[in-house]
Amino acid sequence: MRILFASVATSFLLACSPTQPTDQQSEAAASGSETEQPQDTLTVPLTYLMGQFEPGEHPDFTVIDTKYASRAGMYLRTDAYEDFRRMWEAAQADGVNLVIRSATRNFNSQKGIWEAKWTGQRRIEGGQDASVAFPDPATRARMILKFSSMPGSSRHHWGTDIDLNNLTNEYFDEGEGKKVYDWLTAHAAEYGFCQPYTEKGPERPNGYNEERWHWSYMPVSRPLTAQAERELKDSMITGFQGSETAKMIGIVENYVLGINDACRD
Ligand SMILES: [Zn+2]
Repeated sequence: MRILFASVATSFLLACSPTQPTDQQSEAAASGSETEQPQDTLTVPLTYLMGQFEPGEHPDFTVIDTKYASRAGMYLRTDAYEDFRRMWEAAQADGVNLVIRSATRNFNSQKGIWEAKWTGQRRIEGGQDASVAFPDPATRARMILKFSSMPGSSRHHWGTDIDLNNLTNEYFDEGEGKKVYDWLTAHAAEYGFCQPYTEKGPERPNGYNEERWHWSYMPVSRPLTAQAERELKDSMITGFQGSETAKMIGIVENYVLGINDACRD
């Protein structure tokens, strides 16, 4: 009887959890923290969604230990990092070594990557100078978007997304890479991680090409994707060279929301 009562009481408490945010919850939402707030209603300021903050100064972020990463000085949201470490331990126990190659990239760092490719200062994949090879702005943007996201529209802004082990799909075809990818496809979901950029086709017609190395922490990135769908507009994607193409290409609809269905609601 006692067990039954406890169970009913728990259900009652859950059913009666407040629908109106308390002051504490409003503050948590304003800082981008999920503290005390159900994850499915998590919202963050739009500036956070567009990466306009310094992860090193944000209370919800933690610097990644080099034990887990290819270099020092990378950041993740603390909640994503904690579950990543659990996943890393489990992978180690199965003989699989996960290495974070890239984690949070804010607007300014993405702007640096984008503009270097836009101006031809950095060659795009395939070795072309995009500013010469693709004079039409929308075409140039689409070519860069094959491998890099537009500043303000990257999931790497959110502190939930990581690039693991190797930044080519081929690496994961055989040997050590295949072992890593097979492990992730079998177990990452147990720790909240999902691959947003799966192979393109009828199931996923739009967006970035397949990225077997890119994994996203769903407990946070799922509500942020939903928020982006509601609130993020192409016209907000500004502040860098070539940003006028955001509207032409429908960056939010086709790229931000062009993800694997398993990684969304
Ligand atoms: Zn990535």
